[in-house]
Amino acid sequence: MRRLSRLLDDNRAWADRMRQHDPAFFHKLATPRPPEYFWIGCAENAMPDSAMPGMGAGGPICFDTLGNVVADADMSCLAAIQYAVELRDVKHLVVCGHYGCYAVKAALVGERLGFADARLGSIVEVRDRHAEALGELATTRERWDRLCELNVIEQAMRLGRTPVVRAAWEKEREVVIHGWIYNPRNGILRNLGPTLSRLEDAACAYRQALSRSTAHFR
Ligand SMILES: [Zn+2]
Repeated sequence: MRRLSRLLDDNRAWADRMRQHDPAFFHKLATPRPPEYFWIGCAENAMPDSAMPGMGAGGPICFDTLGNVVADADMSCLAAIQYAVELRDVKHLVVCGHYGCYAVKAALVGERLGFADARLGSIVEVRDRHAEALGELATTRERWDRLCELNVIEQAMRLGRTPVVRAAWEKEREVVIHGWIYNPRNGILRNLGPTLSRLEDAACAYRQALSRSTAHFR
């Protein structure tokens, strides 16, 4: 309880600091403005908000899901995508994973997590699709890192296959999907790809993203 109480105290201290630094900070935050990004991240919340100072207050529309999975049957996820693309006219959709993802590790080694297994099934599919490439890596750590990357790439591709994004592209609307990964060991975000802006480019962007080796990101 003391730790929870401290969270509330820390929040009040943060609000006081922000007001001292910029008296209009909360006024600007409360004023609606068009969001520029839709962010699908991992529910493990490995990346602190302060890692992206350029994003600023009132930043992206966020949807966090275990292992940053874009699940075809997840109505919450699909509704969030539709809200961002169709109702808020967001142009940039970012799927962001992270190294050290516990959900990815569970999928890699076949650990059962209970209710979360329904979400992990999507990552297990990624593991099985790339079993040969993963098998060429020498250590569990390397396979884990690579599966974190592959999962970002595959979930970004899934996002491009959702009805909302396909419909937007068919109407020639500007909607761009990005695959990024965060490294909690050094605080760096990297663009893994694929970068997708239309259906016709998907296969090429997918091959390019896969061709980048794990070593490239170290
Ligand atoms: Zn994670």
